[in-house]
Amino acid sequence: KFITFEGIDGAGKTTHLAWFRDRLEEKLDASGRAVIVTREPGGTPLGESLRELLLHRRMDLETEALLMFASRREHLAQVIEPALTRGDWVLSDRFSDATFAYQGGGRGLPRDKLETLERWVQGGFQPDLTVLFDVPPQTASKRRSAVRSPDKFESETEAFFERTRAEYLRRADEAPYRFAIIDATQSIERIRKTLDELISTM
Ligand code: C5P
Ligand code: MG
Repeated sequence: KFITFEGIDGAGKTTHLAWFRDRLEEKLDASGRAVIVTREPGGTPLGESLRELLLHRRMDLETEALLMFASRREHLAQVIEPALTRGDWVLSDRFSDATFAYQGGGRGLPRDKLETLERWVQGGFQPDLTVLFDVPPQTASKRRSAVRSPDKFESETEAFFERTRAEYLRRADEAPYRFAIIDATQSIERIRKTLDELISTM
């Protein structure tokens, strides 16, 4: 199965993903199935090079969206598709919902362009489950400044993250069968309980 973790920066997805991986590995123990953890942009050597450019160079918005999907195409071909064919599980820190949320919602690239690219790169392929960590931008911004120095996207305004969040929620509304929305303002213990429940239903 293919599971993606989404949310605005500072929502906590990366931390929760690490815990989710451990729990899933315990559950799959002895099944012979591996859990592969990966991320976007990135996930392959070429993708990681694209990530460096995406996070640190200024570029035209359409160039940015094209590079996100280029990274994704490589990720699908080299990592995700082969793993799923073997029967392994793949957990990805972001996938195409992030491109709709950030380049679409946040930066304002028309959605139909992103849909065209999505169709090209993915066909109808979508995650089996997308865990969306939903949090108000103000809370996320406080968490970010507590832990690290921002990359180019993380220094965006609160209004930017409000639009990004709204587009995530719109995507979830459009495909409720694959989304689990988690209120990420809850305690870590509460969130872990919800994640445990999700794992037990898979
Ligand atoms: O998930 P992570 O925080 O590592 O992502 C790195 C940066 O890339 C983030 O600041 C995120 O906002 C940005 N990003 C983006 N568009 C995407 C995926 C990630 O702007 N499609
Ligand atoms: Mg980040």
